[in-house]
Parts: sequence; structure tokens; C-alpha cells
Amino acid sequence: QTSTKPPPLPSPLRFSKFFQSNMRILVTGGAGFIGSHLVDRLMENEKNEVIVADNFFTGSKDNLKKWIGHPRFELIRHDVTETLLVEVDQIYHLACPASPIFYKYNPVKTIKTNVIGTLNMLGLAKRVGARILLTSTSEVYGDPLVHPQPETYWGNVNPIGVRSCYDEGKRVAETLMFDYHRQHGIEIRIARIFNTYGPRMNIDDGRVVSNFIAQALRGESLTVQKPGTQTRSFCYVSDMVDGLIRLMEGDNTGPINIGNPGEFTMLELAETVKELISPDVEIKMVENTPDDPRQRKPDITKAKELLGWEPKVKLQQGLPLMEADFRLRLGVAK
Ligand code: NAD
Ligand code: UDP
Ligand code: UDP
Repeated sequence: QTSTKPPPLPSPLRFSKFFQSNMRILVTGGAGFIGSHLVDRLMENEKNEVIVADNFFTGSKDNLKKWIGHPRFELIRHDVTETLLVEVDQIYHLACPASPIFYKYNPVKTIKTNVIGTLNMLGLAKRVGARILLTSTSEVYGDPLVHPQPETYWGNVNPIGVRSCYDEGKRVAETLMFDYHRQHGIEIRIARIFNTYGPRMNIDDGRVVSNFIAQALRGESLTVQKPGTQTRSFCYVSDMVDGLIRLMEGDNTGPINIGNPGEFTMLELAETVKELISPDVEIKMVENTPDDPRQRKPDITKAKELLGWEPKVKLQQGLPLMEADFRLRLGVAK
């Protein structure tokens, strides 16, 4: 007996491939720091139409001002914890505050954003047949006992601490991604992003690179949180965006670490910023916050092999680019 079931409706992915129309791309959190740089790169391709959905908690329209009114661009004020109905081929899901002071400000909201927000974007991906990329984080490794961190490391995370809304939230988001992939066949990509810096970071974001640069330009002491020997590895934003697009366009689900393996202690970073911007400024030791990871450095073997990606911009090259942007925004001439 022949089936009377109607054929499935064409998904937008098949539709746009069939008609060779533009690629429609949703960027959640696209008004933020990394998101707005990603939008700039995606908009360079005339075949892309970009929709940004953002609730402007930490992002701003200002970051996207050059695209507002562009025929291939659309900006929606939208909170990802609510249902979103759009027709797209790809979803870059970035929406989530990234700086500890912002994600700790309303931790319950941070969890909702990570869990319900990611669930909604997966439901959307399922309905329209879109490929979805999640920007996860090196925080899924917690205070790591393995150094540097490969993707196979399961992490050392406090489930009930003040950072848990963010790091456990992202861990559940990764779980949801893989369950939708296994259960519903959704095409997923997971990037584990390590500390990223560059122009357009919120000046009062509270993150270490933005704090040190703003402090040096204002002639204030650089606040190194104790003990100062903790390490981070900083990736310049253009390298990050390049890695995210390669991951989206490639054939690997990930998770894949994207970050710069150049590792520095916070005291070394303070000395570097001091030398670069204001050699007379003081370095002051201040109290730290709970559960601060003591060391962090990505193992990027997988990104090199599978994406042909590695960072190009060294910290010594990236810091002056960020300094120039902060000078403009703070009105501090050279
Ligand atoms: P950001 O704070 O500048 O950008 C986040 C954007 O998401 C903002 O525009 C904000 O308004 C928006 N947003 C937050 N909650 C939302 C919600 N509920 N609904 C809709 N929009 C919402 O941060 P960023 O540095 O650009 O980070 C982007 C992504 O990369 C985040 O998912 C973050 O977890 C991840 N990440 C960043 C870093 C880093 O060092 N910057 C490191 C690891 C992971
Ligand atoms: N969803 C959405 N946009 C869509 C489709 C779904 O925001 O285009 C949301 C929807 O609100 C739901 C979530 O995604 O809560 C998960 O959707 P799914 O279809 O997987 O689950 P269900 O609706 O069956 O619970
Ligand atoms: N940090 C610091 N001074 C500051 C802000 C942060 O020494 O003014 C330290 C902080 O203790 C941590 C590191 O810098 O060890 C990175 O902190 P950030 O908030 O930038 O990122 P994350 O902890 O998420 O990696």
C-alpha cells in the first residue's frame, strides 16, 4: 500500500539552496561585543541577509549603527527566553551576558537565558531546518585541573557557586544542543570561546582587559585581583569571528575550543598595559571574587586540524587597537 502522507514542506534551508536566494542568518546577541563584529563580517558578503535579535541588556544599537536601515539587515528587540518566529537558514546563538558582573547581576535570568533561550533557538532551528551554532565558553572547564584544556576534559565546576548560573548554564546549553542533534537530527556547532578582547567592549564591563585599559587612560591604579598569578589567554576579536564562521561553515559539530593559547598572569597583563599606555600609573592588589579559575589556556589542536584555524593577532598587537578605540570613546587624546 502506498503512503498517503504528504511530502514534508520544504525547509528554508532547502528553499534558499533550490532558488539560490540569499542566505538568511539570525544572530542572537548581535548587538553585543562579539556579535556586532560577527555581523560586520557576515554583512560583507552580499549574499547574506542578517537578522539580529537582542534585548539590549549588555549590547547596544550603537554597535550596529552602520547597518541600521540597510536592506539586507534587520534588528529586532527580542528576549530569547520568549518564543521567536523567523525564517532563517543559520542561527548564531550568542545571546547571554558574558562579563561576571553582568551575569551575576541577575543570576536566575542568566540561567533562563542559557537554558530557555537555547531551547527556544533549538525549537526554531528544528521548525525551519536551520543549522545552529552556540557560543559556549571555556568556563565549562571551571577551575581546570588539566592544563591546557582540551575539549575532552570534562571540567571542574562548582554547581552551587556564584559563577554557576553562567558556567552550569552553558553546560546545560551544550547538553540541549547535543540532545536536539541526536533526537531531532538538528545540525549543531558548538564553539568553546576563551577570553576575547577588542574594540567595542563595554568600557565598564568589569572584564580585566577593558578595566586595565580604561583605568590606565583615566590615570587610575590598575586593579589586579589577588593573587595576580592566575592566568588567562586572550584572543583578539577578529580572530574569534574568523573561527566562529569557519566552524559554522565546516562539517564538525564540535565542541571546539576557539581562543589564543598565549597565556599571561594578571600581573603580567597589568605590566603590559601600564608600559603601553601610562608607565606612571600604579598597580594595586585588590580582593578577588569566589571561584576565580586559577589558570586557563586553550588546547587548539582540534581547531587547527578541523577548521584550519589559528589566531593571528598577538596581545602586543591587539592591545593598541583596543587602546585607540577606548581613547576615542573616553575622549582621551594621545
Ligand atoms: P556581550 O555582553 O557584549 O553580548 C551579549 C549580547 O547578548 C548583548 O548584546 C546582550 O544585550 C544580549 N543578551 C543578553 N541576554 C539576552 C536575552 N535574554 N535575550 C536577547 N539578548 C540577550 O558579550 P560578548 O562578549 O559579545 O559575548 C557573546 C557570547 O560569547 C556570549 O554567549 C558569551 O557567553 C560568549 N563568550 C564570550 C567570551 C568573551 O570573552 N567575550 C568568552 C566566552 C564566551
Ligand atoms: N520555538 C521558538 N520558535 C520556533 C519554534 C519553537 O521559539 O519557531 C520555541 C518554542 O517556544 C518551544 C521551544 O522552542 O518552547 C522548543 O520547541 P520544540 O518544538 O522543540 O518543543 P515543544 O514546543 O514541543 O515543547
Ligand atoms: N581581574 C583583575 N582585575 C580586574 C578584573 C579582573 O585582576 O579589574 C582578574 C580576575 O580575577 C580573573 C581575570 O582577571 O582572574 C579575568 O577576569 P575576567 O572577569 O576578565 O574574565 P573571566 O574571569 O570570565 O575569565
